[in-house]
Amino acid sequence: MSQRLAPPRRGPCALRGAILAVAMLLLPLPAGATLPRAASVPGGVALLPLGPATGTAAPPRAWFGEQPVLVARRDGEWVAVVGLALDTPPGRHELLVQPPPAVVAASPAGEGAAAASTRVAFNVGAKEYPAQRITLKDSSKVDLSAADLARAESEIAEIRRLQRHWRAADDTDLEFIVPAEGRMTGRFGLRRYFNGEARSPHAGFDIAAARGSPVRANAHGIVLASGDYFFNGRTVFVDHGNGLLSVYCHLDRVDVQAGDAVVKGQRLGLVGMSGRATGPHLHWGVVLNGALVDPQLFLAARGNRR
Ligand code: ZN
Repeated sequence: MSQRLAPPRRGPCALRGAILAVAMLLLPLPAGATLPRAASVPGGVALLPLGPATGTAAPPRAWFGEQPVLVARRDGEWVAVVGLALDTPPGRHELLVQPPPAVVAASPAGEGAAAASTRVAFNVGAKEYPAQRITLKDSSKVDLSAADLARAESEIAEIRRLQRHWRAADDTDLEFIVPAEGRMTGRFGLRRYFNGEARSPHAGFDIAAARGSPVRANAHGIVLASGDYFFNGRTVFVDHGNGLLSVYCHLDRVDVQAGDAVVKGQRLGLVGMSGRATGPHLHWGVVLNGALVDPQLFLAARGNRR
């Protein structure tokens, strides 16, 4: 990890931290006040300072590969909050950064000119996630029939398209609550073997809970889609804005529909075991700039100890 990827500072002094803690109990969190914990590894989030944020100036825009990146204001500075997919190769990577439109307009090159953009280099470290072995009695969800394979593949393409969704917003909440009460049973990143066969790694966070327990929005947003998928079962996608999405899978029932605005803590549906699941649980995925990242990085420290 490079030096610029220091963990986020919570405030200049302990007193301010205490005042903030009290204020957070009374008021909605101001946008961008709290960033996820930095973890510049596959499946993590890199925090990259992009320069001072002054007055009402618009943020710089940034891209990681083809994907636009969330840029948040923290302590008078713009910070790119970059999601790193589990298959990101460790090593040196670059963010493409373009100054805000007002700055670009003042430059003779004009908006969109290559000369206006800069590259910010950062390092992604290696991370070895533990293995998890799962036995499924119903082997049809491990060794798929031709029809199921075709269905699953078309669904995966649709899910990837949803994960790349971008909606600009100025109120994205980056500090999540845990979306279901229960026991954490599957950490993010586990290298999984179903009935002894290697399958894709676990790109979410599992919470075991009784069937019918409420599943709540971990932050406010707009329901992007819901569907019933071969692997994920009944699923809701919530768009928090700026490429940050949450995905809730294996639901027993869905209580919202595409286009609904939801507030933090609002019930989205009920815990179930639809799709490929060994028991009732919520599989919670978090997507940032198209990459599935560790949801625990967005939880306050107390949530992280669950
Ligand atoms: Zn899961």
